[in-house]
Amino acid sequence: MSRIFSGIQPSGELHIGNYLGAVRNWVRLQHQQPTIICIVDYHAITVAYDPDQLRVRRREMALSLLAAGIDPDVATLFVQSAVQEHTELQWIFNTITPLGELERQAQFKEKSQRQESVNAGLLNYPVLQAADILLYRADLVPVGEDQVQHLELSRVVARRWNAAFARGAAYFPEPQAMLTPARRIMGLDGQAKMSKSMGNTIGLLESREEIWAKLRPAVTDPARVRRIDPGHPEVCNVYRLHEAFSDSETVKDVYQQCTTAGWGCIDCKNVLLGAMDREFVPIRRRAAELRANPARVDDALAAGAGACRLIAGETMRYVRERMGLD
Ligand code: SF4
Repeated sequence: MSRIFSGIQPSGELHIGNYLGAVRNWVRLQHQQPTIICIVDYHAITVAYDPDQLRVRRREMALSLLAAGIDPDVATLFVQSAVQEHTELQWIFNTITPLGELERQAQFKEKSQRQESVNAGLLNYPVLQAADILLYRADLVPVGEDQVQHLELSRVVARRWNAAFARGAAYFPEPQAMLTPARRIMGLDGQAKMSKSMGNTIGLLESREEIWAKLRPAVTDPARVRRIDPGHPEVCNVYRLHEAFSDSETVKDVYQQCTTAGWGCIDCKNVLLGAMDREFVPIRRRAAELRANPARVDDALAAGAGACRLIAGETMRYVRERMGLD
């Protein structure tokens, strides 16, 4: 059966952007196929960071994922640095990856422009991604559009290593993208993709009151200056959130009410708050249970790392043998 691999940055508590863009999909997929979810702390250190903060954020991310519905009895959840074969395989892949291919990666160009000094880790980021995926010989990787180029590099690396060392076998599968259904959630400012660094997010574990304090002033259709002005739901981020959280009847009603000025944006946001609350109440309850029993988070991560070490060890034995490194 195909194996799925997904990575997520240890950015602390999940927000609704990464919940809708990735995690809700993983919660569904984990019951269909073997699923490995990796909190990628080696990737996180390619930019300036605080070590104490990293520890806290890594753990908060694990807790958020478990609260959101990742089930450690079904899926494998672990922290990347707990399985050191990731960096060993990355080094090996570095040796078969031309520099030019890395310099052409759109994300590298974009990120390196924002930094005065660019470290080699940032350049080699997609090689570590290739190692993350191929270490488990994963076939499928749920990704957004912006990650497709990195995944293509993983496919090229797999092909190149197989051709050079696997003696006719296709040891590493060429991983396929599972495009996450387009759910680009804009930030509450309506200006950019929802992202913690932009400060325009709603945290998954925030209380109803905290969510309302952010949702109430969130940007909507600028055409709705007065309550009597009809709006255009298709340009409104609140409508996108209704599509994600409300049932189809409610979404139809939102469209009707908005385009006929039947209600104001505050009424609309109130209905959305109710829908979000229905989904988040059980998540917040599980998060509180996990905070009261932190050993459950530790146990889930330890079991995940143990399972991953077994697969990673097997892969590296084969790789070392084929490369004369055993
Ligand atoms: S009524 Fe709802 S969908 Fe329409 S502009 Fe206001 S918040 Fe957006």
